[in-house]
Amino acid sequence: MEIITIEKKKKGLEVLSNKEDGKLQTHMNACVHCGLCANSCVYYNAMPEARFIPATKVELVSSIYRRYQTFSGKFFPSLVGARSLDDEAANEMVDLLFGACTLCGRCVTHCSIGVDISYVVKKGREMLSAMDMIPETLQSTIDAALESGNNMSIPKEEFVETLEWLEEDLQFEVNDDEAKIHLDEEGKDILYTLNPREPKFFPLSISAMAKVFHAAKESWTLSTKMYDITNYAYYSGNYKEAAVITQRLYDEVERLGAKSCVLAECGHGSRAFRWEGPNYLKKTYPFDVFTSVELLASYIREGRLKVDPAKITQKVSLHDPCNLARSGGIWKEQRYILNACVSDFVEMTPHGNDNICCGGGGGQLAMSEYNDRRMAIGKIKADQIKASGAEIIATPCHNCVDQLTQLNVTYKLGIKIMTLGEIVADAIVLENEESN
Ligand code: SF4
Ligand code: SF4
Repeated sequence: MEIITIEKKKKGLEVLSNKEDGKLQTHMNACVHCGLCANSCVYYNAMPEARFIPATKVELVSSIYRRYQTFSGKFFPSLVGARSLDDEAANEMVDLLFGACTLCGRCVTHCSIGVDISYVVKKGREMLSAMDMIPETLQSTIDAALESGNNMSIPKEEFVETLEWLEEDLQFEVNDDEAKIHLDEEGKDILYTLNPREPKFFPLSISAMAKVFHAAKESWTLSTKMYDITNYAYYSGNYKEAAVITQRLYDEVERLGAKSCVLAECGHGSRAFRWEGPNYLKKTYPFDVFTSVELLASYIREGRLKVDPAKITQKVSLHDPCNLARSGGIWKEQRYILNACVSDFVEMTPHGNDNICCGGGGGQLAMSEYNDRRMAIGKIKADQIKASGAEIIATPCHNCVDQLTQLNVTYKLGIKIMTLGEIVADAIVLENEESN
């Protein structure tokens, strides 16, 4: 049990006392307790206890707000359900706001009056961050990024070595000794980023994108200094640390003079850099930023890549990362890519904007203390996958890849999990293949 000091409590309450945050006040006070959000949440569906209902998570934060920010809450707390920020409340906040919410946002779209539940949960996380109560497991991932430049603390030599053998593989794959994985080259059109899970565990997704860039004759480079697109401080609620990580990537795009920054297949990283980043830094970007999903779709649409759907004949379905599809509005491009690259694409039910979270978001993959819950909520996605009959699940997010990989083992799904870059790379018809 964490003991909160008076100083910590003061810092936590300061987050709620910002009178300029009209959105927070509106959304904390708007819930009409209709209960319609309950069935939208993977936690409540997997473990039907009242504490896992999305509205309960909102109520936890708003009851503390009422206690300190309203007349009735200050003088008649029990009459209005106002709650003191004490040790018990703070520990409950950690358990429910960090340990029982993936910030998937599905409840928001199901709420009868549009309460932005995940915004209130994030404010609660911000309070806990101000009180120095971020789960250590999550904070250690952020510390690794801040200290080493990438969240897996991969040494530069190891990273470069991996890319060197991937380049040899690429040359063999495309039958061209001139094919390159460009490193730290200035003045390119694209600076491409990575999720550090790629060089560490899934290097073939890097080769896949290198093959795509080669076939599209793209002007691109990777940075060996700052390539990490993830930003776990987005999840912890420490927006000063989120800004430091964002600024580093911003500086690297500028240093290398790239015209645009292309975000690797990483849902939260894309959201943190592209949509939240300008808010963290309080400035707009002087370069273009887009996701690799949009880039892949544009290559096919513009004829820069020739793909043959007959090359992938297995039944393929798609898992939409919440941050990309529901929050980012990017869901048509994935379908355009798959319809062009595979011969048997089937949708899961539901999908797109109403997609069900895989259970790996919200920082859950970094917080091992909640692993049992993560696997329990993931069963809903596992059942959805089984019902689709798909042999391959494509997903444009490495966090989702990781969670789906674990679900595959736990629930014996027998599927192959691929990024969209890997799907496109397998479907490409190279120029030297066409002439054969
Ligand atoms: S954001 Fe997702 S996980 Fe969190 S309460 Fe809403 S539905 Fe549940
Ligand atoms: S659906 Fe919206 S209004 Fe209804 S209980 Fe849930 S958060 Fe409250």
